[in-house]
Amino acid sequence: MANEINSSNFIRNIVIDDLESGKHKEIITRFPPEPNGYLHIGHAKSICLNFQLADEFNGKTNLRFDDTNPIKEDTEYVESIKEDVKWLGFDWDELLFASNYFDIMYEKAQLLIKKGKAYVCDLTPEEMKDYRGSLTAPGKESPYRNRSVEENLDLLERMKNGEFEDGKKVLRAKIDMSSPNINMRDPIIYRISHSVHHNTGDKWCIYPMYDFAHPIEDAIEGITHSICTLEFEDHRPLYDWVVKECEMESTPRQIEFARLNLTNTVMSKRKLKLLVDEGIVDGWDDPRMPTIAGLRRKGYTPASIRNFCSAIGVAKASSVVDEQMLEYFIREDLNPTATRAMAVLNPLKLVITNYPEGQSEILEIENNPNDESAGTRQVEFSRELYIEREDFMEVPVKKYFRLFPGNEVRLKGAYFVKCTDVIKDEEGNVTEIHCTYDPETKSGSGFTGRKVKGTIHWVNAKTAIPAEFRLYEPLILDDVEENEGKHFLEQINPNSLTTLKGFIEPSVKGAKAQEKYQLFRHGYFNVDSKDSTTDNLVFNRIVSLKSSFKLNK
Ligand code: ATP
Ligand code: MG
Repeated sequence: MANEINSSNFIRNIVIDDLESGKHKEIITRFPPEPNGYLHIGHAKSICLNFQLADEFNGKTNLRFDDTNPIKEDTEYVESIKEDVKWLGFDWDELLFASNYFDIMYEKAQLLIKKGKAYVCDLTPEEMKDYRGSLTAPGKESPYRNRSVEENLDLLERMKNGEFEDGKKVLRAKIDMSSPNINMRDPIIYRISHSVHHNTGDKWCIYPMYDFAHPIEDAIEGITHSICTLEFEDHRPLYDWVVKECEMESTPRQIEFARLNLTNTVMSKRKLKLLVDEGIVDGWDDPRMPTIAGLRRKGYTPASIRNFCSAIGVAKASSVVDEQMLEYFIREDLNPTATRAMAVLNPLKLVITNYPEGQSEILEIENNPNDESAGTRQVEFSRELYIEREDFMEVPVKKYFRLFPGNEVRLKGAYFVKCTDVIKDEEGNVTEIHCTYDPETKSGSGFTGRKVKGTIHWVNAKTAIPAEFRLYEPLILDDVEENEGKHFLEQINPNSLTTLKGFIEPSVKGAKAQEKYQLFRHGYFNVDSKDSTTDNLVFNRIVSLKSSFKLNK
């Protein structure tokens, strides 16, 4: 089980107190996703928190699908969520579905009616809104509020039997229409929806509301600490009311924490689904998505995500985390392990005119300059190479130390070359550059005659393998969301994906899906799990090599 860092936080302190005081002998947490989309990095925060907390104190964590809204839910999402939780490195104790408790929930609704704590209401949604009042004005009692227990039981039964259309009736808790907390103003606890449920099929046409269902689910499972995000803080009195009035045997405690927000990222499943449905991305696992599936396909590792979640911590105050912090953790994780290689993403041919035609030689290049034990690999060098187009300028700008006519640079792991000629097509585009090399300057030969300021990478034109490289930028241009009057779809970055056809050294031949490489000067790359084949390798850039981001430790 994965638990790198158990950084302290206020929820952990509550758990420690509860164990020390004897309130609980064992703690049980749960991760309760609604299967209406794929999990995202925000969910990862909640997953790490729930699983690591229970794990640290030898407790248990359930994976429970909160599937009370059939219209939006699907088994595709159930399967993806299971896969993502496992991939992150966690094992649940029990796999459960809220829908398995629908019978109990129905009985509890009947119990509330019998206690005079719930009633069937016929107000239309508009009327109900009107009756609810506002933050400053108290609500008004529904004219249906004082129906008899018998009538309420009968109407609920007939709701269940499908006698009424969607929206015609609801079951409401009878609490307090003048409560300063709007959630307590006779909230709806059951509604009619004639729809097929992914788990219960057409058995039910009434479904419990989240605020009624969730505390019951927690109590049935004996959850001790029910951890949720801050927007449920005002719902806590209702949570406690349901547990008490439904006479649940166990009393779970709801604790709220701040959800994770990331710069340049939308995180709600509703918005992520829109990106998928509008075809703006190529599915939930598009590497530009902040979903676990997207991050995995981009090349993130489970450890990098867990370490990120530990570092951001758990607090009560909302904040926005710089997405570069996530990038920091994948660099940390991959730097010691990623296989090194050279690739040219935007190729320009370089011909070494004084290197004998038909000849080639094998050079030894170190795999990891920071780690001798990573060894060396053999790279073939010959007369015709590819270099990066941006490593040549016909008219160099100031402080340009790479190739330009008359200038000399080192080819990584090979020789000094000096640019002697520029070949162009009819339109004046540079198609090839000619250089001479100095055989005395071979890397590792101890040559000290003169120095050059630039080292550039290359691949051998004859043996390099063609490959596709996908470079990413943030999908969302800034984090001003709808509240600034702009819909987030208007802030899509048109350059979020750049696809380049280049070459990579033959040592990576046969690279398998999800293998990670550090490509010299370009960054960390992952072999794409969907589109890469032996004949057409596709590399996704996970992250560039450097950033100005500093982690405050
Ligand atoms: P979204 O608003 O993104 O659709 P949700 O809260 O509706 O998310 P659920 O499937 O209900 O999604 O969430 C499952 C669990 O994950 C809940 O306990 C929820 O509080 C938590 N969670 C969701 N988003 C975040 C986030 N950004 N940061 C931390 N926890 C989150
Ligand atoms: Mg939700």
